[in-house]
Amino acid sequence: MQDCIFCKIVRGEIPSKKAYEDDELLAFHDIQPAAPVHLLVVPKRHIASLADAGEADAPLLGRMMALTGRLARENGSPDGYRTIVNTGRIGRQDVMHVHVHVLGGTNPLGPMVPRH
Ligand code: 5GP
Ligand code: ZN
Repeated sequence: MQDCIFCKIVRGEIPSKKAYEDDELLAFHDIQPAAPVHLLVVPKRHIASLADAGEADAPLLGRMMALTGRLARENGSPDGYRTIVNTGRIGRQDVMHVHVHVLGGTNPLGPMVPRH
């Protein structure tokens, strides 16, 4: 996708602080961290959101989730973390390229209270 920010990061057209990369996935540090550790895991192939994913995408999405434990441990969140996937307008998704937020640090995060 030409104008997608995360596709541009995947292609190296926008710089990012990478934490993991393989042929299918990229993980990098969020530019505006909401916790001491804040990583984003994205598929290299453009999928707009979780709402646009289908059965065929299940292995890829599974790999994204399965990577989070290692990512958190290797990046300063040794004892757990929070994963968030915002989806669409209702989920307040800003970047329309599916991504898993990995939030953590060395202290417990605040309670996940929804703000309306
Ligand atoms: P969303 O609201 O779509 O779930 O989250 C998008 C996230 O992408 C936000 O946390 C935002 O800080 C992050 N982000 C947006 N643009 C960039 C960028 O150019 N580089 C990096 N590393 N993160 C970005
Ligand atoms: Zn994209």
